[in-house]
Amino acid sequence: MATFFSGGTIWCGAGCVAQTLRIESGVVTEINGVAATGDEIVDLQAGFLAPAFMDGHAHPLFGGREAQGPLVNGLQTVSEMVAEVKRFADSNPNTPWIIGGAYEAAAVGGGDFLASWLDAVVSDRPVVLQAVDHHTIWVNSKAIEIAGITAATPDPDGGSIARNPDGTARGTLREPSAMDLIMKHAPERTLDEDIAAIAWASDRYLESGVTAATDAWVEPGMAEAYIAADKSGALKIDMNLFFLAQRDSWRDRISYFAKLRKEIESLGAGSKLAAKTIKIIGDGALSAGTAAVLAPYLDDPTSKGLLIWEDDELLDAAVTFDAAGYQLHMHAIGDAAVRQALDTIEKMMAVNPKWDRRPVIAHAQLIDAADMPRFAALGVIANYQPLWTYLDPMNKELIAPRLGDARNAQQYQLASMVKSGARLSYGSDWPVTSYIPLLALAVPTHRQSPDRYPKDGWSPQEAITVEESLSFYTAGVAYQCFNEKRFGQIAVGAQADLMVLASNPIEVAPHDVAGIKILGVYKNGVAVIG
Ligand SMILES: [Zn+2]
Repeated sequence: MATFFSGGTIWCGAGCVAQTLRIESGVVTEINGVAATGDEIVDLQAGFLAPAFMDGHAHPLFGGREAQGPLVNGLQTVSEMVAEVKRFADSNPNTPWIIGGAYEAAAVGGGDFLASWLDAVVSDRPVVLQAVDHHTIWVNSKAIEIAGITAATPDPDGGSIARNPDGTARGTLREPSAMDLIMKHAPERTLDEDIAAIAWASDRYLESGVTAATDAWVEPGMAEAYIAADKSGALKIDMNLFFLAQRDSWRDRISYFAKLRKEIESLGAGSKLAAKTIKIIGDGALSAGTAAVLAPYLDDPTSKGLLIWEDDELLDAAVTFDAAGYQLHMHAIGDAAVRQALDTIEKMMAVNPKWDRRPVIAHAQLIDAADMPRFAALGVIANYQPLWTYLDPMNKELIAPRLGDARNAQQYQLASMVKSGARLSYGSDWPVTSYIPLLALAVPTHRQSPDRYPKDGWSPQEAITVEESLSFYTAGVAYQCFNEKRFGQIAVGAQADLMVLASNPIEVAPHDVAGIKILGVYKNGVAVIG
């Protein structure tokens, strides 16, 4: 089966445009050929053909799981969220626990959501909603009752229970140790539910032009679900799994990860699954004051946030996993966490033998000027979330008061990073934010909210071009995933994972990019959309 494309712009990669393209048996076989031959001749109708998007940092299984509960993601008020919980409860009377997410914690000043608000619509069954930061849950009274949490229950290590003046739980619990007080009572998810979630996530990705992605938080049970979904065909996009190494359990998981990696590597040629990466979380989030920063937070001068790992333990883990051939993908948001990650990578490289390791620092929201050149020097990829690069309500209302306007405006220094020679790649961080790349693609260019605030963009000197963003969302992620020959570019021999857009995102006004229609998506040369 051969397909010939012409009649539009064929974007092969940064700075490269072609007139025609021929694909056969799932790969690109000819560029700029003159003979329109093939089983299928496609007229692009002045559209834009490009390599399909790849998502370099996301949580598709969490996204798919969330979609199986009440859809509170994106709702702006408590009354809308409660109404959605009621709708879900009424249409799913036999679901014993109502679990969903992710709600916007900034919708309530101080972030304490009350159990009583949920009790008004569901009181017979537990309700648990995750906040967008995935570090907070909001629950109803039934959930608190089943967990046996009373005024006498102490806050667990590293976690907190929001309390009324009499000590009883208000309905909001923070950090995994506290969330676990509730979640350990919830019914375990079934394998079939997770396979359905993976299939659902695959479909959402394909219709958005994404044909390869990553799962950046793989806990026990999740890789097993991906393996089953890969075997059954429910996994329809290529997927690289990041095993989550946590400070207190990573040593015990080494052989478990190795066993899973071996199983995934032995899935064979038809498999879409890989497991090349270890995920390490270095700090929290700026919005919660838990990102590790070099200078104290303004709203609490005693706090510089929190480094999750001690330096020595982090280096131990990095050296161990790197020596075993895993890529490191380190979550670091504050400038202190970014420095710790860079220091760790530098020391690890001094100890372990040289190899093509491609370490990644994800988010990298605040980078001290002294650390910026180290990304290029050490070969560290910065994985950014392009949709976050504007002054959204979180940056404006939660982060700016904590950092001050000047430091706040130093977030997401994309142009400076490009100039420093660092490699960039993109990820959505779905379901924290949308999985749809076209919604995000031009944000690093205009750095404005959808209603065009602020007028000149947020720290406009850090703006980059849409073409740069397109390459970070394709070739950048392909490189990050050690797959640059197969994905992320149109070149002879590359896999024919392609998308056809109705117009050229490089040429339209940046605010119009989000509205561009996707006319077709090809996976391995086969039209899956359009
Ligand atoms: Zn993430």
